[in-house]
Amino acid sequence: MSIRIHQLSKKLGMENKDLVSLLQERGFSVTSASSSIDNISAESLLDEFAATKEPTSETAPEATEAAAKPAEPKPPPGPSMPEGMFVKSVEQIKEERREKEVARGKPAASAPVVPHRPASAAPPPPPPRVSGPASPPVRPPPPVAASPASPKPMGAPPAAAAAAAGGAPGAEGETNVIQIKPPIVVRDFAVMLGLKPFKLISELMEMNIFAALNQSIDENVASQIAVKHGFLLDIKHRGEAQQPKEKEKEKKKAAEEADSKFLEARPPVVCIMGHVDHGKTSLLDKIRTTNVVAGESGGITQHIGAYQVSLHDRKITFLDTPGHSAFNQMRERGAKVTDIAILVVAADDGFMPQTDEALKYIRAAGVTPIVAINKIDTKGANIDRVKTQLQERDLMPEDWGGQTITCPVSALKGEGIDHLLEMILLQADVLELKANPKAAARGVVIEAAIEVGRGPTATVLVENGTLKAGAAVVCGPFNAKVRAMFDDQGQSVKAAPPGSAVRVIGWSGTPECGGIVREVKNDREAKRLAEEAEFESRRQSAAAPSEKPVSVENIFEVIAAQKKKTLRVVVKADVFGSVEAVVSALEGIRSDKVALEVVASDVGQISKNDVLIASAAKASIVGFNVRHENGVNAVAKHHGVQVHEFEIIYELVDGVRDLMAELLDPETREIKLGVAEVRAVFPVTRGAVAGCLVTEGRIQVNANARLRRAGNVEFEGKLYSLRRVKDEVKEVRAGTECGIRLEDFESYQPGDYIECFEVQNLRPTL
Ligand code: GDP
Repeated sequence: MSIRIHQLSKKLGMENKDLVSLLQERGFSVTSASSSIDNISAESLLDEFAATKEPTSETAPEATEAAAKPAEPKPPPGPSMPEGMFVKSVEQIKEERREKEVARGKPAASAPVVPHRPASAAPPPPPPRVSGPASPPVRPPPPVAASPASPKPMGAPPAAAAAAAGGAPGAEGETNVIQIKPPIVVRDFAVMLGLKPFKLISELMEMNIFAALNQSIDENVASQIAVKHGFLLDIKHRGEAQQPKEKEKEKKKAAEEADSKFLEARPPVVCIMGHVDHGKTSLLDKIRTTNVVAGESGGITQHIGAYQVSLHDRKITFLDTPGHSAFNQMRERGAKVTDIAILVVAADDGFMPQTDEALKYIRAAGVTPIVAINKIDTKGANIDRVKTQLQERDLMPEDWGGQTITCPVSALKGEGIDHLLEMILLQADVLELKANPKAAARGVVIEAAIEVGRGPTATVLVENGTLKAGAAVVCGPFNAKVRAMFDDQGQSVKAAPPGSAVRVIGWSGTPECGGIVREVKNDREAKRLAEEAEFESRRQSAAAPSEKPVSVENIFEVIAAQKKKTLRVVVKADVFGSVEAVVSALEGIRSDKVALEVVASDVGQISKNDVLIASAAKASIVGFNVRHENGVNAVAKHHGVQVHEFEIIYELVDGVRDLMAELLDPETREIKLGVAEVRAVFPVTRGAVAGCLVTEGRIQVNANARLRRAGNVEFEGKLYSLRRVKDEVKEVRAGTECGIRLEDFESYQPGDYIECFEVQNLRPTL
């Protein structure tokens, strides 16, 4: 039994030609509406589309009728509307745009831009249904919409008309704006547009896009199709879409936080910057040892990236990020989370390049520096010279009538430290640093690592609210149920108030330095937000522009780059600062012959997963100050992945340079051992022996040999037998006669020369 295409298309509610092309695509030999297919195939097609079919069967004429009739205003979509989609009113959109514009400081736009279908455009086929749970809710356009300026397209679906109405000044009512979260799946999208999936598939085919029912389509393509059907697509990426209620709540919360009655003074957060060797570390150490927070001494000092000291019962938080130049990026971020920056200048050295660089960061972060003029105990100390240099940089010292606080100190002797701390507190008073300890906690990650036995940890500098053990927090794609918190004395902390820094344990992964940590209402919410952030970052990396296109100008560059060998590495290091330091050190390796590509870099021990990543990328693993997990060596061996561990950065750089050089074809050098002249040829059972006199150097058995006849090379290979009189010997020196047999050669002639040489492999240079 079979069924004709025109009968089936009626049942499916689609056009004959669309069904024909779909069936042809699926391998059916159908050509027109009068062709037929077997009943079983027809049944399965009907089943396939039953999922997207509305409860009542409808035909094209019915749909046209429905389109002509004003549709009932509908509440937001019913159960068959795919998740994450809803329709907004013109007013809502206007309001949102106005809010956005105001936020950007622009005057509010008068009306939303809703695409019109030009009146001359051919009217699109009406959607099969304009009402019912699966269709987007629409309202008939009010009479004003049918003005000559925006004529209602004849036969256009009410949805399109509503769009025109939405765009017309003064128009009221709902418009056909669809909010959608990617991925935009064909089946769901068709439902939203009130189209049969077949119809959508065939429209996509017309655009040369071949997508199946369950496949997702590009946002731009979806927007084009939506416009074609009179809809405006409002694509909300995950994380962006926020229910109005949630927004309200957040606003309320922010208002609460800002409410001055909850605000309390908080400790200032201070960082120390300056040129290498000017005494930053010494100053940090001295401050730490002489002003430990009262009552908290006795713990074991832990490096968590920050510590607190106290003076006159007031606390000060210092960030002690490494001052090494390789940690520039981190330092740059450091300046942004700090309230006060101490610019250290050695009194005997004055301003140096890194002092100016640090000053640049400080200024960029909008922070006023306090200048610590260090090493005042040294012979060459010249405080006035430093002050003059400050004056030259628009930092007129206070005692010279300016605004810049200067503190002469000796980190070595401990002189002037209390004065420096007092000045910090004074500056903190001027800045009126306040926060709401009752608010939901918010902070910044200043250091992160994977610690043996603790898993991923991150030091969070709490900026507002109080971070408590047990809280649910999120930071980018990672979340944590705060299992435990430790301070810089290694003491367990139950609550971290604003301005304090704590090491937080319980993360799902290692958050990034500089990442914002937010407390949310529960673990589930934290996980959801983390997933959304991950989705978003993947989307962004997928959308990142691909490789540079080849042009006439860069073709030689491209060819050279393709010829170049590449060493790929996966970098693992103990803390984020070192990951960055290692990566930037590796980026500093220059070679015309081998390129270096860091395919992945992360904090933590070298794991089996790293080996798998490296194996997939054909990369080697380079570890810095990290160990590897048990069993990694076996997995690495199995996958042929090299694992190299280093503890000193320049050794790491040298090691990587060696790995790069190993990729190059070995350079060889020939070392001549000796020459023998063939004087006579003696036939033997199998072949012949050349009776020779060694004329130069020495001849060695198993050495490389070359036979020359009248200058031409007749043979090159191994010298496999060497005899002196009757005995097999290893070596025969110049002036001695011997019998030589070469491998696979026997047509010796008197007068031939046999050269013996060694090949030495040289280390290729980059
Ligand atoms: P950083 O590179 O800025 O962290 O500088 P360091 O703290 O490592 O100090 C560099 C050198 O200067 C070390 O040898 C310190 O002992 C020395 N130093 C630091 N502060 C003082 C000081 O106040 N007086 C003297 N004489 N030497 C100091």
